[in-house]
Amino acid sequence: MSSVLQSVSRRLAGKVALITGGASGIGAATARLFAQNGAKVVIADVQSSLGDSVAKEASSNSQHPVSFVSCDVTKESDVESAVDAVVSAHGKLDIMYSNAGVTGDSSGHQILTVDAEELRRVLDINVVGGFLCAKHAARVMIPEKKGTILFTASVVTDTFGLFAHTYTASKHGQVGLVKNLCVELGQYGIRVNAVSPAAVPTPMAMKALGLDRKGVQEFYAQKSALKGPLLDEKDIAEAALYLADGERRLRPGPLILLLLLLFYYYYLLE
Ligand code: NAD
Repeated sequence: MSSVLQSVSRRLAGKVALITGGASGIGAATARLFAQNGAKVVIADVQSSLGDSVAKEASSNSQHPVSFVSCDVTKESDVESAVDAVVSAHGKLDIMYSNAGVTGDSSGHQILTVDAEELRRVLDINVVGGFLCAKHAARVMIPEKKGTILFTASVVTDTFGLFAHTYTASKHGQVGLVKNLCVELGQYGIRVNAVSPAAVPTPMAMKALGLDRKGVQEFYAQKSALKGPLLDEKDIAEAALYLADGERRLRPGPLILLLLLLFYYYYLLE
C-alpha cells in the first residue's frame, strides 16, 4: 500500500459511489479522491478504454479496486443497469455523482446560428442524463432512507452570457432539478447538492476554447480579478468530497441549540 494511501484520512470509508463522466477531467479526479478516501468507486462513462485505465490507475492508490461500467447517461436502460450493477457488487449505493456533461458545439453561442438539434443533444446529456441518474439513485436510496446525490452544475447559472446558449440552458435545467430534488428527497434523508465550478482546465474546456491546458489557465486568469492561480479538477473533487462526506456534519447539537433558542424567543420573550 502506498504512502499516499496511508497518509490520507478515510472520510468515505464504507461508502459506495457511482461517478458518471468519471473517465476524464473532474469526474476522474473525483474518482481518485473518493477512492483514496476509502470509498468503493464505480466509474460510469461512454469512453470505455479511458474509463478502464482511470479505474486501474485509481485502484493503485485505493484500499478497494475502482471499477468501470460502460454507460450512456441519456439511455435509461444504461443508467438503470449501472445502478443495479453497483448495488449487486457492493450491496448499496451511497453517493451518486451525476457529473457527465458536454458543452455543445460552437453553433450554441449565437441565437441565429444555434441549431435546435444541438440544443436537444446538450439537454439530453446534461439534463435528461442528470434526471435519469437522480431517478435511479433515488430508487435504491429511498428504501434506505439515506444517500447523497451530487451534480456538477456551472458558474454559467450565476453569470450572463459567459457560455453557449445550449450549455447555459442545460445547466439552469440541472440547477432547477437539484432545487426540486432537495425538497422531494430530503424527507427520506437524501441530500441533493451541486458543485458549480468556474473554469477548470479539463479536456472539455480545452476543446471548447481550442487551447491546451496551460492556454485555458492563462485565458481564464486574464478574466479573473486575482489573475490566477485558478481552480483545477482536484479542487472541484475536494468540494465534491466535502458534500459527499456531509452526513458526519449533521450532528444533533446545533439543531437542539437552535430549537432551544426558538423556544426561548417564542415562549419566554412573548
Ligand atoms: P470532460 O470532458 O473532461 O469530462 C466529461 C466526461 O463526461 C467525459 O469523460 C465524457 O466521456 C463523459 N460523457 C459525455 N457524455 C456522456 C454520456 N452521454 N454518458 C456518459 N458519460 C458522458 O469535462 P469536465 O470539465 O470534467 O466536465 C465534467 C462536468 O463538469 C460537466 O458536467 C461539465 O459541464 C461541468 N463543468 C465543467 C467546467 C470546466 O470548466 N471544465 C466548468 C463548470 C462545469
